[in-house]
Amino acid sequence: MSRRLALCLLCSRPAGTAAGICHACSADLPQLQCACPRCALPLPVAATCPRCLRRPPVFDAAHCAWHYAYPVAQLVRRFKDRGDMAAAHSLTMLAAAQLGPPAPPPDILVPVPLHWRRYWQRGFNQAQVIATKLGDAWGLPVHTGKLRRARAGASQRGLDRRQRLRNLEGCFVARGRFDGLHVGLVDDVMTTGATLEAAARTLHSAGAVSISAFALARTP
Ligand SMILES: [Zn+2]
Ligand SMILES: [Zn+2]
Repeated sequence: MSRRLALCLLCSRPAGTAAGICHACSADLPQLQCACPRCALPLPVAATCPRCLRRPPVFDAAHCAWHYAYPVAQLVRRFKDRGDMAAAHSLTMLAAAQLGPPAPPPDILVPVPLHWRRYWQRGFNQAQVIATKLGDAWGLPVHTGKLRRARAGASQRGLDRRQRLRNLEGCFVARGRFDGLHVGLVDDVMTTGATLEAAARTLHSAGAVSISAFALARTP
C-alpha cells in the first residue's frame, strides 16, 4: 500500500504522513512538555525533581516523548503484546522527531535487553526495535548484545522503586567495555526508572562516562 493511501492508525482517515498517524492525531498525543531533566518525571515546571536533588540517578538525562496515557499507552500495548509493528513504526518515528536528534548526540544507542526466555516468548525485544529505528532516524550506531540480561528477575509489578532496584541487582551484565562513551540507553516505557538505573549502573562500571535515557513514554 502506498503511504498516501495508508490509513491513520488512530482515526482511520488517510494518514498522509510517513509515520502512519495523521497530523491532527499526532498533535493530540499527550506530549510530555514539562519534566525533570534527570528522570523525566512529569512536573508543572521543568526543574530537577526533589528525588533527583536528593539522590540523582546514574544516568545524566532522561528524555520521554509522551505521558503513558491514551492513546499512546494503547499503541504501546499493541506493539508489545500483539507484535503490531505498524504501531511501533508510528510511535518511534514521531518520538524520533520529537526527541531529537539529541544534542549532544550519544556515541551509541544501547537497548535495555530482555532475558532470553522473555525474548523467546515474545519473539522480539521492544527496546531493540525502538533503538534500531531511533538509530536510523538520528544516524547513530546501535549496539545490541553488549549489554545482556543475566536473570529474568521476578515481576516488577506492584513494587516500589527501592524494591525494584533490589530485584534488579546483578540483572544486567556488560559484554565488553564502554570506555569513554556517551551511551543512549533505550527502553519502551519509563516507570520508576529502576530498570534504566540498574542498566546504567552496569554501563557505568563498564566505563561509560555519560548515559542518557530515552523512552517513548513516562508513567506519572
Ligand atoms: Zn488520525
Ligand atoms: Zn527527577
